[in-house]
Amino acid sequence: MQPVTSAERRICPDCGSEHISVTQRGFAGKTDERHQFYVCLDCGRMTYEILSRTAREMKLERVSTGDVIEADGHPYRIQRILKIGLDEHLIYVRADNDAKRELRARRR
Ligand SMILES: [Zn+2]
Repeated sequence: MQPVTSAERRICPDCGSEHISVTQRGFAGKTDERHQFYVCLDCGRMTYEILSRTAREMKLERVSTGDVIEADGHPYRIQRILKIGLDEHLIYVRADNDAKRELRARRR
């Protein structure tokens, strides 16, 4: 697994552009942004990096590291799941456009 560093280059998974705007997840409080993502300034695609889930949502989704999940109609590969606090999980994801077929198989 590759460590996620601030120096990591972010590239739009749809058009390959490096012209992006990052929105960091707010760690300070509930009013801040829940998820972390970046938006491509060329094609407008929003790409998630961290998805926040409650314990209840985690139970419903039953996901684990390596699985493919869907967010806003795009497939993502789960890199890491981190439990924080009593009721929140952070799902670190990487956009994986090639995983569309896997996603369909999961749905049944
Ligand atoms: Zn793009």
